Amino acid sequence: MTKIKVSAFLFAFIACISTFAQKTNSDKYSTEIEKLSKQRNVQSAFEHILLLEPQTIKDHILLNEIPAPNLLEAKKALKFAELLRTAGADSVWIDKVGNAIALRKGTKGKRVVAINAHIDTVFPEGTDVIVKMKGDTLYSPGIGDNTRGLMILLTVLRAMEAADIKTEADILFVGTVGEEGLGDLRGSKYIFNESGLKIDSWISVDGESIGSIVHEALGSVRYRIIFEGPGGHSWGAFGYVNPIHALSAAIHYFDIDANDFTKQGPKTSYNVGRIGGGTSINSIPYNAWAEVDMRSESSESLDEIESILLKATNKALVEQNKMKRSGSDLKLQLIAVGKRPTGTISPDASLIQKAMAVARFFGEEPQLSIGSTDASIPISRNIPAITIGRGGKGGANHSLGEWWINKDGHIAIQYALLVLVSEADLSK
Ligand SMILES: [Zn+2]
Repeated sequence: MTKIKVSAFLFAFIACISTFAQKTNSDKYSTEIEKLSKQRNVQSAFEHILLLEPQTIKDHILLNEIPAPNLLEAKKALKFAELLRTAGADSVWIDKVGNAIALRKGTKGKRVVAINAHIDTVFPEGTDVIVKMKGDTLYSPGIGDNTRGLMILLTVLRAMEAADIKTEADILFVGTVGEEGLGDLRGSKYIFNESGLKIDSWISVDGESIGSIVHEALGSVRYRIIFEGPGGHSWGAFGYVNPIHALSAAIHYFDIDANDFTKQGPKTSYNVGRIGGGTSINSIPYNAWAEVDMRSESSESLDEIESILLKATNKALVEQNKMKRSGSDLKLQLIAVGKRPTGTISPDASLIQKAMAVARFFGEEPQLSIGSTDASIPISRNIPAITIGRGGKGGANHSLGEWWINKDGHIAIQYALLVLVSEADLSK
């Protein structure tokens, strides 16, 4: 009895100490952010962000009206690079895969902090991206996700120049290509895997509210499954292998096992998003295909659900070949069309603590969350990285009816600037 009492007391004491430690830790960052926000040139940058509002909206529309489907981002990247150059960056370049990058040199240059937004949109070539205004609302595919993100970068740079803010670390302003869908984080993967750039911390701007801070990378694996056979007349060639029959069986087996598997453990999802194949009702199809997306917080679960898919497709292949009465065998191709890593940056990391303190400074309760953005690549390599919101008010992302309103939009720009300057250290 006594023992229980003592351990309960101890437990309460330890819990109390750890809450106290967390509290003093967050107080420490809040005090630091408060102090930074009062610096004369930070105040001046905040004012410039407000003064720049008409220019920010004008360039937002201008940039959005340049189409940027996956693999066709070059024109928009070039315009963005030109805007960064005229805003006062020390050097600007387009890298090998098409990312638009601007360097603003720091006074010490020992560290490199990057702020990023993606240039590409989910919309195919030929989509009407002309901006329509109804009252205060801007309508156009890509207007929020993520042309607004690019505008945050540009206005932050303009305001830093106008207010003559100097940071100790070098800052990279990075417009990435291939973030969406089958782009598979192409731009960000190139920067961290091949470009040779050394980046110490990374801030992506992508997402809505400024209180939401993504510090965890949601992993995904994507496949295109293709079954192929000889094809033939439905009556005359009856008994040939049928790719659609096999694909349907594969999807069924996958669904049964994947459903069981995802009921427990870390959150894991799966979706057969597209299927196709065949030529006519009275032809045995010569091919059938499907596209499958699987996601998880855990890399082990992602490996497991991937193996469930491989087993299900193989089972369907073997079965269909057993049922064959004549003709050649059915063939299966599994093409990996996407792989995004998992990972977490500890909430104790200073970048995350600073972003949370900045959110509180602007009256928002910070929410740590999980997402799949350009920040996933640095997160998976344990490089401090977050994704913050682009602000304003928007909706219908990834649809033709996408809209965005500049409702207190300047706050998101001030928020991004404050996170960036605190991470890059204001020069004394
Ligand atoms: Zn986006």
